[in-house]
Amino acid sequence: MTPLYEGKSKRLWATENPNTLRMEFKNDATAFNGEKKVSFENKGRFNNAISTLIYGMLEKQGVPTHFVREIDETNVEVKKVDILMVEVIVRNIAAGSFTKRTGIKEGHVFTQPIVEFSYKSDELGDPLINDDYIREMGLATPQDLAHLRSSALKVNDLLSEFFAKCGLKLVDFKLEYGRLGSDPSVIVLADEISPDGCRLWDLKTGEKMDKDRFRRDLGNVMEAYEEVLGRVKENLS
Ligand code: UDP
Repeated sequence: MTPLYEGKSKRLWATENPNTLRMEFKNDATAFNGEKKVSFENKGRFNNAISTLIYGMLEKQGVPTHFVREIDETNVEVKKVDILMVEVIVRNIAAGSFTKRTGIKEGHVFTQPIVEFSYKSDELGDPLINDDYIREMGLATPQDLAHLRSSALKVNDLLSEFFAKCGLKLVDFKLEYGRLGSDPSVIVLADEISPDGCRLWDLKTGEKMDKDRFRRDLGNVMEAYEEVLGRVKENLS
């Protein structure tokens, strides 16, 4: 069998149900637009478990997602969606590309969250785009974009509060949304929420507990992911 789609960290497979897919979390980790690539034992398992628990929490709080059910340790069943080519990034604290773009030092705390959009294109390196680009590129309507912004801010509130309970600071994160295959007028949260796409700092020590450990060769990458999973589990049961 061949997957319908294979990305850098996940594969999508068909199921018997035409409205759902099986999403498989791989152990592969990539950074710098795929230039740096390593496989970590258990990464797929940790990210699936973290993402599944978080999507369950978000659904309970009224955020619609593509999540249907967990199949096994590395696979979930998800609703079939057409992914919007706009990635939504929310930032609470300066880090990563924001610091490079502005010269503002890592760790600077914003007075209000920053929402930004990037064009989902590996070829172009996911460039930063704004509302006008999105309208003219036909990536989403202004109404859809308003929905993405308010949904992402709600997710930020829910996740910031939840991760604080876990002793973690939510620095920034990336979200992807999709239109339901069964009803394209409905946009739901898709992809995953895991330390691959969130920056999480330990509240007490400031230690990085996310993919920056891999990006920056800090070591103990999977130890950090496992610790995040443990804290997420503890605070959701
Ligand atoms: N991010 C992601 N995928 C991307 C780009 C960013 O998951 O293709 C996440 C990243 O892990 C971080 C946040 O979005 O939590 C903001 O990333 P940033 O723009 O600072 O980019 P980076 O420093 O990762 O290049």
